[in-house]
Amino acid sequence: MSISLTDRLQSELQGLRDSGLLIHPRVLESPNRAHSRIAGQDVINLASNNYLGFADHPVIKERAAAYLRDWGAGAGAVRTIAGTMQIHEDFEEQLARFKHTGSALVLHSGFTTNQGVLGTVLKEGDVVISDELNHASIIDGLRLTKATKKIYKHADMDDLERALRENDTDGLKLVVTDGVFSMDGDIAPLDRIVAVARRYGAVTYVDDAHGSGVLGEAGRGTVHHFGFDQEDDVIQVGTLSKAWGVVGGYAAGHADLRELLINRARPYLFSTAQPPAVVGALSAAIDLVQEDPSFMKRLWDNTHYFKAEIERLGFDHLGSETPITPVIFGEASAAFEASRMLLDRGIFAVGLGFPTVPKDLARIRNIITAEHTREDLDQALAAYAEVGRELGVIR
Ligand code: PMP
Repeated sequence: MSISLTDRLQSELQGLRDSGLLIHPRVLESPNRAHSRIAGQDVINLASNNYLGFADHPVIKERAAAYLRDWGAGAGAVRTIAGTMQIHEDFEEQLARFKHTGSALVLHSGFTTNQGVLGTVLKEGDVVISDELNHASIIDGLRLTKATKKIYKHADMDDLERALRENDTDGLKLVVTDGVFSMDGDIAPLDRIVAVARRYGAVTYVDDAHGSGVLGEAGRGTVHHFGFDQEDDVIQVGTLSKAWGVVGGYAAGHADLRELLINRARPYLFSTAQPPAVVGALSAAIDLVQEDPSFMKRLWDNTHYFKAEIERLGFDHLGSETPITPVIFGEASAAFEASRMLLDRGIFAVGLGFPTVPKDLARIRNIITAEHTREDLDQALAAYAEVGRELGVIR
């Protein structure tokens, strides 16, 4: 006799409950901005990926509304079936120009982009070598391929080189890394990764979800930050949901990459295109960051300020190099308690524990944005000082 769905659902949920991993997302009663409302309370939001404050920006919403009015609510179907709208084609050209790459394609999310691109580019007989801290969507994307999979120690060039040396193939060799690692906020040493990869004839694949709109001139990303642009042996993917404020994913790089993806990437071939409003918002976002450098400047001024002050209070932020600012509390229970205590003080920031991060490095992950004011950051820092002292993490 097979088990009932009720038994399956309840036993899975109980397992999560027992291990303290059952999640209840907070409900936002307002747009996702530097100030949001939770349970009727105005909170300073340090939990979003809204780096540039674009998620609710009037200029971006205006273009979204114009595209909605002129092009409709939905794209109608998969692009290869219903015809691809001019706005999708134009946006991809805009993105390729912005990224200085030979081509660019937009998919539905950063998550499906990893599935689509890794699933297309890699074949049986290929070797893929992936940083141990790469994002879940890379791990899932790699599960779709028949390539041989190897893991290298986080950002460890000796280990990467060893893996490349020990796993030769006549097929494609691909080194896969996040551009910015989402838990620690460190930047992948891309100059060294590309150099090592090239020594072994390997292509480098960068998931720039947290680097796009954050690093490089006008937020062109981690690849640009390290002085690369169009390189035939570098594939850039990323999300359009974090700094760009909307939703979607992109792949950019080699001039022929786009055409192969159009023909082979399963999320492109079997899933309906982004709605026009999304395309409008995204095209406005890419324009805005180039027209007005103050977004990037505020993002980085705020980041430097917050990190320096967190350090001064005596907290450990693991040497993060980006607006992602972890604050270490040790045990998961302490991080979750700290998150609750911060919320009581009007600060919304998420606690993360094992297995998302190592057991003794449970933390609160703060994401600093261009939209935060100095007063917001000072208020958050004052709350951190109180909570850190009360929990005995700082003196
Ligand atoms: N890759 C990385 C490195 C990410 O951090 C994320 C976002 N959590 C994704 C991919 C997925 O992006 P999206 O939210 O657009 O699906």
